[in-house]
Amino acid sequence: MALVYKLPSLSSSSSLSGQNFKHFFLIPKTICSLHFKSSPFTEKHSIERYQRDHWLYKDQLDLYHYQSSSSSSSCPLPSDKESIRQNDIALQLPELRKLLQVLKEKRETFGKDGEKCGPGHVYLVGTGPGDPELLTLKAVRVIQKADLLLYDRLVSNDVLDLVGPDARLLYVGKTAGYHSRTQEEIHELLLSFAEAGATVVRLKGGDPLVFGRGGEEMDFLQQQGIQVKVIPGITAASGIAAELGIPLTHRGVANSVRFLTGHSRKGGTDPLFVAENAADPDSTLVVYMGLATLPSLASKLMHHGLPLNTPAAAVERGTTPKQRVVFAELKDLANEIASAELVSPTLIVIGKVVALSPFWPHSSKEASCLMEAV
Ligand code: SAH
Repeated sequence: MALVYKLPSLSSSSSLSGQNFKHFFLIPKTICSLHFKSSPFTEKHSIERYQRDHWLYKDQLDLYHYQSSSSSSSCPLPSDKESIRQNDIALQLPELRKLLQVLKEKRETFGKDGEKCGPGHVYLVGTGPGDPELLTLKAVRVIQKADLLLYDRLVSNDVLDLVGPDARLLYVGKTAGYHSRTQEEIHELLLSFAEAGATVVRLKGGDPLVFGRGGEEMDFLQQQGIQVKVIPGITAASGIAAELGIPLTHRGVANSVRFLTGHSRKGGTDPLFVAENAADPDSTLVVYMGLATLPSLASKLMHHGLPLNTPAAAVERGTTPKQRVVFAELKDLANEIASAELVSPTLIVIGKVVALSPFWPHSSKEASCLMEAV
């Protein structure tokens, strides 16, 4: 039988500031207040973000018209190829085109004063698993100086609060009911804005180089001659292990740790083919994006020799005030997750080290439990 524990939040970010988005002028009240009611990770919330960004860019039109009518150009205008790319983006989200123009105007003004108008910079910034206090100082500095920030679903609102007053935020994650940006579109956006001289920040949940497609973005931009800097973030595995007091490695218990994905790209190889090698009782497994395929992964691991009673944890929205945790033995984990109705983002940790957590239920009869933040 599953026990329900009520625990105080271990996260330091339990108060959601009423100052969110104070930096955007004329923010409609409805959008501000919606912001605090739901988790930063729900699809519904993504729609609110989309609407807010949409509204924001709509507002930029006036600024653009004002600025473009009052400035003249001194830097070279875009080549045809650039125009085509920029027009493509403009078709996807017309307001972006306007913003691009605003940035160009700004750059042209600098050009007149004799400053070099070279390309801008792109930073791939890891924002950690949600708690803003897990950001690095470097990440905070770069976030605060950005002209444009692209962010997706895993970037928490507490992190977005740090964005400077003049920066533009663009949601590029998946949103039910709306066209979501493809990876190619994101590449083009990063490139176009960097070429317009902007300091562009691509915010990524956790670490950009752990299941974050950061490598692809870096590769694309570097091939186009754009300088890219990566600022690491705390990956979900580290943030969540710390939150629950689980040592990912521990002398005599786990001598290695392995990060797996439960999800494969369309047409890609079955991510669970690793189960045979991963069924090692002396290793810790951390599964990202693993909710949908967990039943199959768990049975494969057990089939390949991982003991049925291997301790495991599934953590939804780890390090945020909405964190929920299911502890269970491997044989029961899929059922316990289903009955707790955990949703994405959820991280799964499997291995003997999980039982070292002070929250692991000690009685073997009650080896399954759900912990909720209050
Ligand atoms: N780059 C990220 C991982 C992106 S893949 C990182 O380094 O953490 C997305 C998956 O990460 C989610 O499906 C989930 O498995 C995990 N994840 C990220 N943030 C999480 C969080 N706050 N709580 C639980 N799981 C999280």
